[in-house]
Amino acid sequence: MKSVQNGDSFGTRLIHNGYESDPATGALGVPVVQTSTFNQGPVFGDPPAAAGEFDYARSGNPTRKALEETIAALEGGAKGYAFGSGIAAISSALGIFSAGDHIIAAEDIYGGSRRMLNTFYRRWGLELSAVDASNTENIRRALRPNTKALFLETPSNPLLKITDLKACFAIAKEAGLVSIIDNTFQTPYLQRPLELGADIVVHSATKFLGGHSDVISGLAVCATEELGQRIYAVQNGFGAVPGPWDCWLVLRGIKTLKIRMDAQQASAQKIAAALKAHPKVSAVYYPGLADHPLKAVHDAQSPGPGAVLSFKTGDTGAALRFLAKTRLAAAAVSLGGVETIASYPVRMSHASVPVEERRRLGITDDLIRISVGLEDTGDLIADFDRALS
Ligand SMILES: *Cc1c(COP(=O)(O)O)cnc(C)c1O
Repeated sequence: MKSVQNGDSFGTRLIHNGYESDPATGALGVPVVQTSTFNQGPVFGDPPAAAGEFDYARSGNPTRKALEETIAALEGGAKGYAFGSGIAAISSALGIFSAGDHIIAAEDIYGGSRRMLNTFYRRWGLELSAVDASNTENIRRALRPNTKALFLETPSNPLLKITDLKACFAIAKEAGLVSIIDNTFQTPYLQRPLELGADIVVHSATKFLGGHSDVISGLAVCATEELGQRIYAVQNGFGAVPGPWDCWLVLRGIKTLKIRMDAQQASAQKIAAALKAHPKVSAVYYPGLADHPLKAVHDAQSPGPGAVLSFKTGDTGAALRFLAKTRLAAAAVSLGGVETIASYPVRMSHASVPVEERRRLGITDDLIRISVGLEDTGDLIADFDRALS
């Protein structure tokens, strides 16, 4: 950790993460330690050596450790853990609870998180309440004597609703809950929930942290060593761990997080304005727009609106034509990569949400979500204009 300085700004700490020079070789990259097991022979020697740090790669791997320490430092947490996917990170964080525990979750969390809670965790005896967390009173009203956790995501997906994190975490603290937040959209560059009172932050590192649409990965960071031990027990006991190459790809992606996010966010801001002014667009959802209803709440907890936005065309046919005609945006799931992606939530991320429920949430057939990539902003605006016309 020789070059980590507490006073260094975020951009510097992305590069100087304590792993910028391998002590064994001087390599300016974290070695990919591709092994399943570690030699413990010296432990049985005469005299016996102390046990090494690593014994079996499900329990720990040096490349994974570098990623885990890096994300813990960036989020400002005590411990970080890496998983084989974002969903594995979330299911493992929720794996610290027991049958009979009650969890309050925001109703518009990632579709896969919702499906996981509603199918598996319900079946295993967790009680669940889904609430509109953009009104914090709904959380208070949902509290039960056995409530153990609060699970949030802001900005939400796909409508970019905002939740007041400080207010929610204060309610959680008062009620003795573990508060968990999915910070995938903002990353620790734009939102550090542990500083606002969260207990556990989870990520799909597949998105902005990895940043290149080339790896599936997940991370969890917790505020205390005690929570860390509970999550480690699930990581090791359930075994949803990533391989070292995937950890290396995420570590490489993280180095350019700031510069990518700065550029993608600036582009998203201009695209949101262009869509808002477009005659074929009926609504734009983006916390960077002055008329976003909870912009002030977002601005108080995050220095930027991020690079994901969504819009409605008012007409299903026009939305489908946009997806078919856009040349620069890939019609695909996922977000946060250097490539611009246009998603169709009703057939993709939110296909598993029942139709009436989708309608109630405002996830309509004319809704498109855009993750703005690193293409030239003018080219994207021109392409979207063509695809809408
Ligand atoms: C993609 C995503 C997930 C799931 O992550 P995977 O890496 O696909 O398992 C969870 N939360 C959010 C907000 C996401 O965008």
